[in-house]
Amino acid sequence: MDTHGLFNKISKELHRRRRMSARVMVAFSLVTVLGFSAVCGSVLLDMRRGAEELARQTLENLAASMDADINRNVELYDASLRAVASNLVLPELSQVDAKLARLILFDHPVTGPHFGAIRVYDEHGNLTGDSALTNPQKENRASEPFFTVQRDEPYVGLYISKPQQVDGHYSVILSRRVTGSDGRFLGVVAGSIKFDYFQDLFKRLRLRPQDMIAVIAHDGTLIVRTPFEPELIGKNMLVTSGVQKMFGRRNGWFAGTGTLDGVKRMFVWSDSTKPLVVLVAKSWNDIYAMWRKEATWIGIVLLALAAFVAAVTVFFIREIERRAAAERRLEELATTDPLTGLTNRRKFDAAIDTEWRRAIRQNTPIALLMIDADHFKAYNDSFGHQAGDQMLVGIAVCIADTVHRAGDCVARFGGEEFAVLLPGLTAPAAEAIAETIRRKVEEWSDIEGGVTVSIGVASTTPIAAHQWYDLVEAADRALYAAKELGRNRCVVAVRGEVTLVA
Ligand code: GH3
Ligand code: MG
Ligand code: MG
Repeated sequence: MDTHGLFNKISKELHRRRRMSARVMVAFSLVTVLGFSAVCGSVLLDMRRGAEELARQTLENLAASMDADINRNVELYDASLRAVASNLVLPELSQVDAKLARLILFDHPVTGPHFGAIRVYDEHGNLTGDSALTNPQKENRASEPFFTVQRDEPYVGLYISKPQQVDGHYSVILSRRVTGSDGRFLGVVAGSIKFDYFQDLFKRLRLRPQDMIAVIAHDGTLIVRTPFEPELIGKNMLVTSGVQKMFGRRNGWFAGTGTLDGVKRMFVWSDSTKPLVVLVAKSWNDIYAMWRKEATWIGIVLLALAAFVAAVTVFFIREIERRAAAERRLEELATTDPLTGLTNRRKFDAAIDTEWRRAIRQNTPIALLMIDADHFKAYNDSFGHQAGDQMLVGIAVCIADTVHRAGDCVARFGGEEFAVLLPGLTAPAAEAIAETIRRKVEEWSDIEGGVTVSIGVASTTPIAAHQWYDLVEAADRALYAAKELGRNRCVVAVRGEVTLVA
């Protein structure tokens, strides 16, 4: 490859590399930021799942321990009710006096501040015995659910009532049926557990304001709840899909929204087969509080990192652009003639090389004008070198003013000699342009001192075997002919003279 092709190639390669390095920078930064974001996103998701899992386990443990406490007490109390119920049907009971009978009946009942007295009602609902009083006042409770349910449903087992007032305390009543040896309904044994018991239990826990614990009976009745909401106590919770789900599975969790406060919570239960089921809940806000804080921090750090990477990228791209501009400027300086501002010889050679190849590829003509100032030595001698320089600039302006098309190249070829490359032009079209230039110089120099130019024109449609300097030579010969013929004229190389044209 010759030097002109090499010059073109190196210049293109430099441009390509600069574009490439800018693109690589942007891609690298994007990949870095996206990669970091992906890693952080996945870590955050894991942490979020971790927070959820931890909350679920904590709530499950809480539900299990509450369950154990409440249902142990219920079972203990129930054991006492059953003992009384079975003692009641002992045949010996009728043979001893009332005092002894009472002792036998209420043999070791569970006692405690939260448990009410155990009472016995006959088949008509009349009070017949009280574990706390020897002579209780007469009363009939035949219409109350704890009595009617036991009377009407022989196999109901332990019955737990809705919360109600018993002896001045908010309580739930527990009742057992008394069945004779012949299967006959003989009455009911009933006792009560005070709300204070639950309240004390809840007080022992360190609950957050949005935490919730509910104790629900098997028929869906809300027995007690913290925070205490009087209008919900005794309501049937089976209307909510979450509670329905709870009774469908032994243990598990669901996400639900608070009926009264609208707070979204995670609800967990540990055993829905127990007589009283404990449902504990924590707001998602509290569950994710820590995670949110960490996520915010990680987000801020990530944003800062992204901003830093973006800033570094912008800095480097600017630097690349600055260097590119400097290189362009240098290239411009290296390819421009300082006196006339036209393309210099070196760049012209590269341009003609490129256009020559294109003309071969596209099978199109390419024309060249060689322009030389007439008697310039004499002009210099008369007016001085400085004025000669001014004249050269004037000639350059005349030429550049005539040639406009993209691909055209006007160059200072040497001392007072110029070359104009006109890709795509045939000899007559190139001659027309040459003539315009010649006339322009003539008109302009009429005023300035009478300098004229002679122009040699050559055009060909090159093939691969030809070299572009043959075209230069032909134009040069035509220029020489123009000088010979008396100067201030254009001469077109005859076909035979463009030796490369067969
Ligand atoms: P011809 O019509 O045959 O071309 O005659 P000529 O005098 O122009 O030709 P010749 O080649 O003998 O002289 C060229 C002159 O151009 C020589 C030199 O003084 C002048 N010249 C070349 N370069 C410059 C330049 O940069 N500035 C000035 N002022 N003169 C230059
Ligand atoms: Mg000359
Ligand atoms: Mg000359």
